[in-house]
Amino acid sequence: MIKGLGASFGYALGKVFVLEEENIIEKITIKNVKKEIEKFEKAIDSCKLDLKDLIDTTKLTIGLEESKIFEAHLMMLEDPEFIDKSKELISSKKVNSAWAVSSVSKSFIEIFESIDDSYLKERAIDIKDVTKRLVDKLLDRNNEIYNRLGVIIVANDLAPSDTAKMDINKILGFITRNGGVTSHSAIVARTKGIPAIVGLGDDIENIKNGDIIAFDGNSGQIFINPSEEIKNKFIRLNDEYLEKKEELKTFIGKKTISKDGKVVEIGCNIGSPKDLEYVLDNDGEGIGLYRSEFLFMDRKKFPNEEEQFLSYKTVLEKMNGKPVVIRTLDVGGDKNISYIKIPKEDNPFLGYRAIRYCLKNPDIFKVQIRALLRASNYGNLKIMFPMISSIGEIRQAKTIIEECKKELENEGIILKNKYEVGIMIEIPSAAIISDLLAKEVDFFSIGTNDLIQYTSAVDRMNQTISELYTPFHPAVLRLIKLIIENGHKNNIWVGMCGSVSGNPELIPLLLGMGLDEFSMNPSKVLNSRKIISKTDAGFINEKIDEILNISDAFELRNTLKNIL
Ligand code: PEP
Ligand code: MG
Repeated sequence: MIKGLGASFGYALGKVFVLEEENIIEKITIKNVKKEIEKFEKAIDSCKLDLKDLIDTTKLTIGLEESKIFEAHLMMLEDPEFIDKSKELISSKKVNSAWAVSSVSKSFIEIFESIDDSYLKERAIDIKDVTKRLVDKLLDRNNEIYNRLGVIIVANDLAPSDTAKMDINKILGFITRNGGVTSHSAIVARTKGIPAIVGLGDDIENIKNGDIIAFDGNSGQIFINPSEEIKNKFIRLNDEYLEKKEELKTFIGKKTISKDGKVVEIGCNIGSPKDLEYVLDNDGEGIGLYRSEFLFMDRKKFPNEEEQFLSYKTVLEKMNGKPVVIRTLDVGGDKNISYIKIPKEDNPFLGYRAIRYCLKNPDIFKVQIRALLRASNYGNLKIMFPMISSIGEIRQAKTIIEECKKELENEGIILKNKYEVGIMIEIPSAAIISDLLAKEVDFFSIGTNDLIQYTSAVDRMNQTISELYTPFHPAVLRLIKLIIENGHKNNIWVGMCGSVSGNPELIPLLLGMGLDEFSMNPSKVLNSRKIISKTDAGFINEKIDEILNISDAFELRNTLKNIL
């Protein structure tokens, strides 16, 4: 048995498909040379269009100089030597175009790599890049892998957009070498209900393509080529899990109310309007976090105002008057968006990201704000800014809202609904001055995924020190209490959209602290409603000081278990 970090609940038993980063390209003999050459030409044209888009966005977002890299890539796709040699190989050897392209490019790469000039050596990297783009296109790689029937995907890393592409009816689960439980791939997996283990480290080498494995997405345990006994155990556990899911359905349509009558709200975290299906299935009472950055991922340029407007409007309309918190673009950290070129940083989690990026790029930010304001006419919108660390950022962001409002008014667009403006509290500086920040906004939503990492100085993605990343650290819990108190003193509501809000061990404590709104992955809503129905909020409230005076996280967790 090997063990990684359980990132998304559920049991998986099935065959492994190892995702190679550099897939070896199979050499296939083809019958119809003319058709293969047409396919090759079509792929070249399509890559050229992609590159032209990339050049435009690069010019806009980074600069002219950087866009020249892609101009060079474009030129390579127009290089007659490269094209003719590839075509010649396809027809003389009757081979598939992907193999021909990679073999021609290999010879070019070798030439450049052998030249004793660092500038020319670098060109080999560009050729590799263009070749990959072309080969991916020819093999239609992007979609194929994620829709294989009945496999467990094993990979070094998965980008959130990769996880988003997975078809839950086909993929049994995934395991990655890197990543932490709050990485965005893990979050997407939880939303979709795909069992997942991350941060397996070098143990991943023990898993081979075609192996049968059984894994538990909660404990992180993986059994390679398990015995019949273990297989049967997993089948039984899975059945029990499905049974429990059935039982929870009795909570559908019920209010979320504690044993002593405190009513709270359970909203859901989503990454796209597609996730609404899970929200409605699980009876979410609203959207507590729409991570709008997903709309910006897996594409080649910024979504324009109309595209954004339609996405936000869809969510608001489908939620039919229930609250919808849409967070503005939270790029950076592990949320990489290919066409937003953030210069390489030593500490991307502490760097140029989220609201910092938006405030420095008002043209991009304004497109989103205008789309949001227009969408506000279709429901109960709450705009939320991520990564706020100081009051100035809120004021600047609010000024931009006012500017956009004026622009829209001048264009004759009337905003008929009231909307709220709030912030995520996920940075300790914001938590500490939450009494002051509360005067500027309509609500707070506590982002524990980041609040834990910044409070404890523990990278949320680093599995080597993952045991230090804990919500049970009294510093984190004290900050949460402080934020809720400061919000309430200033008459604003306080929610939580980080993973802690769906943690069964902490829900009672949060309820006792007076949290007004919980927002979580849709799959957790019904179980959380059940836990709340069994909790006496008043009783927990009286115990809070005692709990928060325990200095050790491990001890605190045990005490909490005993009290409940
Ligand atoms: C958080 O930090 O808790 C949060 C909800 O935001 P994200 O996970 O998207 O950084
Ligand atoms: Mg965050």
